[in-house]
Amino acid sequence: MFDAAPVPTSPHPGGDDLVLRNIRLWALDQREAAPLMDISIRSGRIDGISPAGELATAGRAELNGRGRAAIPGLVDVHVHFRDPGLTYKEGWVRGSRGAIHGGVTSIVEVQNCPPLSTSVQAISDRLEYVESRSLIDFGCLGNLLDDSVPELEGIAARVPAIKLFLGCSTGVGGQDNPEQVLALFAAAARAGRMVVAHCEDQALLNAGEKSFPDATAKEHHLVRSAEAEVESIRLAINCVRQTGGALHVFHITSAGGVQLVRDAKAEGLAVFATTAPHYVLLSCEDAERLDCFIKVNPSVKTKADGAAILAALRDGTVDGIGTDHAPHPREHKTREYSKAPSGMPSIDLLWPLTLELFRRGELTAKQAVQSVTSGAAASMRIADKGRLEVGFDGDVVLFDPVKTRTVVAAHLPSTSKWSCYEGMELAGFPEVVVRRGSILMNEGVILGCDGPDGDAGEKVANGGKPLRLEATRPQTLT
Ligand SMILES: [Zn+2]
Repeated sequence: MFDAAPVPTSPHPGGDDLVLRNIRLWALDQREAAPLMDISIRSGRIDGISPAGELATAGRAELNGRGRAAIPGLVDVHVHFRDPGLTYKEGWVRGSRGAIHGGVTSIVEVQNCPPLSTSVQAISDRLEYVESRSLIDFGCLGNLLDDSVPELEGIAARVPAIKLFLGCSTGVGGQDNPEQVLALFAAAARAGRMVVAHCEDQALLNAGEKSFPDATAKEHHLVRSAEAEVESIRLAINCVRQTGGALHVFHITSAGGVQLVRDAKAEGLAVFATTAPHYVLLSCEDAERLDCFIKVNPSVKTKADGAAILAALRDGTVDGIGTDHAPHPREHKTREYSKAPSGMPSIDLLWPLTLELFRRGELTAKQAVQSVTSGAAASMRIADKGRLEVGFDGDVVLFDPVKTRTVVAAHLPSTSKWSCYEGMELAGFPEVVVRRGSILMNEGVILGCDGPDGDAGEKVANGGKPLRLEATRPQTLT
């Protein structure tokens, strides 16, 4: 057991006081004899990191890390918790319990079921709803549609970024008129917020559907092709070039797509990209065994595309990994291809899946950690998260990098209870998770929420706080 003082009952507004003793900073120093260190957290912020035993911390709560590896709490920049609206698919309490299980202490959530965040009132209501229900720190994206343009500056003040669906997915979007898309990018630039885009060209998606009328899950990557992603990313980058705005390409899936992002970064444009675990750990060949469980939008492409994305994670073209946690009940995913919804859950496994890329030799330890911490935070301009450094938030995950466990989806805390990674042997399951000095999980047991599962709509005390953004220059039209 990790000996710990009781969870403090009267938290400071910004977080709690805690001293984590006898931990090893993973990825910063991997030598066998990586020294034992202590991390001190005061009012939710890291205020000291020192060799074990040197911190004078009389009176503060302590947790003995017993030599475990420590990384920053993960920042998942892309999740769908479907609450309110479709809480039978996921809820904030169950979803954030899943996040804690995966080592995630901050999330950026995208509402893609009604009510969409297209007005100041809608986003304000949403943030109030989420703050009383999320166990972890959060940002909610505004939705970028024609309807939201008149209130975009007010929406922008409350969100890290604004989400634009260029290709239709899960009932939202499908905007591919170049002039209209340019106008939306210009509106976002005037409002001073990054556009986060689902990039698939709607005309090419429509053509793909026509070309494969009898498609099954095995043809999903042909119906929703790499070309559709590439053309859409080309359009979005061109809008950045013309408006002086910023773009974050969500869930990048193709070799052609990452090359466009690489070129845009070399040109000096404010273009960021993240991918998801399934685009680098699975390929379209897995549809043979996973059928519609692997049906996601954009589609999972070829092994060569996965290799190109990994190369792009290594050279910094792709800034990070977010889950695109998009839960659906098992009985919906066993429907025939044309009727099965797109999306898969994975937030419960984010750190073990990312560590797997290190275990396979695809990423260095540092690259693996950065992809889900500092790199992910920077890709959405989130401040104070993703680093174990003095002044950053006291979000810490302790894990054993060697001990493995078999994935049993039925035992995961989020709602779906199925996983494309069922039966996989993974390492690094978080054992302790700390958010702003509060212990959310100890010895693999999630604390601070009554009830075995957390009902949809349930409220929590001492929950997550809104994420803060880095101060940036206002974006203006050139
Ligand atoms: Zn998504």
